[in-house]
Amino acid sequence: MKHSRRQFIILSTTGATALLLNSKVQAQTMVSPSDPEAAALGFVSDASKANKAKYPQYAAGQKCGSCVLYQGAAGSADGPCGLFPGKHVPSNGWCSGYTKKS
Ligand code: SF4
Repeated sequence: MKHSRRQFIILSTTGATALLLNSKVQAQTMVSPSDPEAAALGFVSDASKANKAKYPQYAAGQKCGSCVLYQGAAGSADGPCGLFPGKHVPSNGWCSGYTKKS
């Protein structure tokens, strides 16, 4: 009886750890500028490197962190974006879908 309780605790801990690690890995999957969807929108991880010739709507100061589609917490380094489900964008990134948060 004591032995099976120990096994239960070990298996429960292992399972919980695996779930925690899995969710952490998923949360850290970042959008890459080379992803086809991202490239099509001119996504860059550093807003200051936006292609100003191709996207003249870009203005200095625009970045994911101030975009209405950015779902990260205020002040976070990265967070989810409504255009890239399941991935994060850096708060200093930018793409042509930028819409200023009101
Ligand atoms: Fe960043 Fe907004 Fe483009 Fe998403 S839509 S990548 S938050 S600028």
